[in-house]
Amino acid sequence: MSIHLPVLNGVRPVDTIPPDPLVDLQARRIRYLRVSVTDRCNYRCSYCMPEDLGRELAFAPRSAVLTFEELERLITTFARLGVRKVRLTGGEPTVRRGIVELVGRVRAIPGIEQVVMTTNGHLLAELAGPLAAAGLSGLNVSVDTLAPERFASLTGRGDLGKVLAGIDAAIACGIPVKTNAVALRGVNESELAALCEDAWRRGAVPRFIEHMPMSEGQLYATDSELPAAEIRSRLEAAFGPLSARASAGRDAGPARYWAVADGREVGIISAMTEHFCDDCNRLRLTATGALHACLGHDDAVSLREVLRSGGSDDDVVRAIAGAVVGKRAGHEFQRSGAGGPAKHMIGIGG
Ligand code: SAM
Ligand code: SF4
Repeated sequence: MSIHLPVLNGVRPVDTIPPDPLVDLQARRIRYLRVSVTDRCNYRCSYCMPEDLGRELAFAPRSAVLTFEELERLITTFARLGVRKVRLTGGEPTVRRGIVELVGRVRAIPGIEQVVMTTNGHLLAELAGPLAAAGLSGLNVSVDTLAPERFASLTGRGDLGKVLAGIDAAIACGIPVKTNAVALRGVNESELAALCEDAWRRGAVPRFIEHMPMSEGQLYATDSELPAAEIRSRLEAAFGPLSARASAGRDAGPARYWAVADGREVGIISAMTEHFCDDCNRLRLTATGALHACLGHDDAVSLREVLRSGGSDDDVVRAIAGAVVGKRAGHEFQRSGAGGPAKHMIGIGG
């Protein structure tokens, strides 16, 4: 007999498990799960979680955060349904105690082919070796600027030298690295080429992200937006014509890749001006077990409640299928800063 399943932000578990619970109404197949392992962070990036917001945001109590056993059970279920790639994110995933052990445990789940992580890189120099040994398949490291003081002010408390040392350590351990920079007019717009050169020199692939109006747009400013087309034209001014790369396949994330004449690549995540919702293959699980089918909407179902109220694996699947069936066709981000969800980027992890 199945339990009564919770409804959170309007998402209702389905009564009958569909033949393929990870295919949505637009025939998009989910293969990629992003898992926030903590809502805490050692940085305070201004576009993600400024100090003021941080004071208001109550971090989830530890008892509300999914345990490793709960994560393992959920990811095992997702893998049985067809998820092949898991990204660990945050907040800052490296501040979760036991993160290296968690990477190993997720890597060992049958069906999971890639475990990757998005990090600010602050603790990476020490963790790179253990993460590589645990089977981490790739890292995205956030580097918005190469100016140490600008970096410290943008991240609230960041240390650029530590982050760059972390990237070098990860690459030395054989972990493929991509860098992430939120492209911001008036902040790092003059550094796009330098950010590419620096990433390439280290053996990483640089990427730029359009600023998204999370937190109901309160951290977003129209005049700081740098659209993908302008990012490309600035890169072309520095490196010559860019040629589009083919998609990296069905497990790929949202970035589109471009190559300069000598073949070096750069990725652009154009969530605002050239969105990629039609090809979305992702779901997102928060640290407290809320499953969100779209970054741009607050709809969610609490898998934690299903687990903690004694739900069976079938109950978990009914809740997951409810989120997938309710997956919106696309986000509603607007370049005015309207249309963003109430949730904060720090709580969902990008
Ligand atoms: N703490 C880790 C980090 O900084 O890489 C992982 C979590 S962070 C939320 C994931 C990514 O989201 C980072 O690359 C960050 O720059 C990006 N990000 C944060 N707020 C954003 C926003 N409002 N628009 C676009 N990207 C954002
Ligand atoms: Fe922390 Fe990452 Fe958000 Fe910066 S972008 S505040 S490092 S979660």
